[in-house]
Amino acid sequence: MPADGAADRRNDAPSLSLPATSLPTGNGNANGIGQLPTNSNPRLRLTPRQDHNPDIYEDLQSEFTPLLFSSLERYLPPNLLNVPRNAKHKYMREILRRYSNEGERSRVQKHREYRQRIMSSYQPLYRRLYELRATNFFVPSFINAFKANDNNREESIRSIMSEPAPGVYTFNMLQPIICEMLVAEVEKFEKWIRKTNFTIMRPNTMNKFGVALGDFGMDSMLEKLMEDFIRHISEIFFADVGGYALDSHHGFVIQYGFNRDIELGLHVDDSEVTLNVCLGKQFAGGELYFRGVRCDKHMNAEALPEEIFEYSHVPGHAIIHRGRHRRGARATTAGQRINLLLWCRSSVFRELSKQPKDFVRWCGECQQEMREHVNQSVMAKKVELFRAREEPAH
Ligand SMILES: [Zn+2]
Repeated sequence: MPADGAADRRNDAPSLSLPATSLPTGNGNANGIGQLPTNSNPRLRLTPRQDHNPDIYEDLQSEFTPLLFSSLERYLPPNLLNVPRNAKHKYMREILRRYSNEGERSRVQKHREYRQRIMSSYQPLYRRLYELRATNFFVPSFINAFKANDNNREESIRSIMSEPAPGVYTFNMLQPIICEMLVAEVEKFEKWIRKTNFTIMRPNTMNKFGVALGDFGMDSMLEKLMEDFIRHISEIFFADVGGYALDSHHGFVIQYGFNRDIELGLHVDDSEVTLNVCLGKQFAGGELYFRGVRCDKHMNAEALPEEIFEYSHVPGHAIIHRGRHRRGARATTAGQRINLLLWCRSSVFRELSKQPKDFVRWCGECQQEMREHVNQSVMAKKVELFRAREEPAH
């Protein structure tokens, strides 16, 4: 099965894939309070300091996204947590650079130039779409769910969610006017592409139609969507695949129907958590079918009956699930269907989840194997006890 999205590595928030061996199994061994270690081998702690409030790195330019630094900061050795921000930035950047090679960095740089070329000449249709204001974007039920204070937030977010199948949540999210504006903006952008003969990069390896929203200026809107809303949802429902620690995103719009993509085969995303919002327009078909969450090893394993589920899109409504939830889209048989996708990733999760034992938390097949293993052990124990009881008779 294809893992969707190898092509989107050009996103300017490179996903990290650090070898597990890069982490020490204890505390960092940096020397000297408040100083950078003199050895040239910076390290991170294995467990984050949850009570530490990280700095904001928005204004510091580097090849890595500022959110990545805020998110990594909790993993710094204890004696570095409170050193000046620039020193922490330098230390973390050195770590990040070790794992992103020259080729990847130059790809990121090229992509940045590509975006600059677009934004220097494309004129947006609706400025309002480029800055996320909750009251402009969302339906009241969604806004209210996030207004609750920290103690009640989980309950109020849960109250707007339906869970039609395990690990799949749906809720009403976008105002109809915002859906229409987004569709119109994407259509204008596509007209601009045709008019200027601009060679567009498609948003992933599987869709021939569709555009990456960050490429024409919507990155900060999407970042705020992930930071202020999706991370809170993920913290509650997807704690096993990064939870609140989502720190990079890839947002795009895909189009299905006549003269567009028709359907999409079974696949998984290059994301921890995927948000999928239907923007319209009028269409028939296009249902999503789900086949359970799997790790790499079990990607082609049969789905269990309880994992088979089908979802019909409703304009304005969102569906959210793990990126590794296997699924496909049925043919859109009439009209045009346009969906906004937001892939959310967690570099911290990717770094820390190299151990296969972790997969049992979310892979249906690993869970099945574990149940069988437990059953077998119980059976073996029973046989042993039975024999022990029988033995005196012989
Ligand atoms: Zn598995």
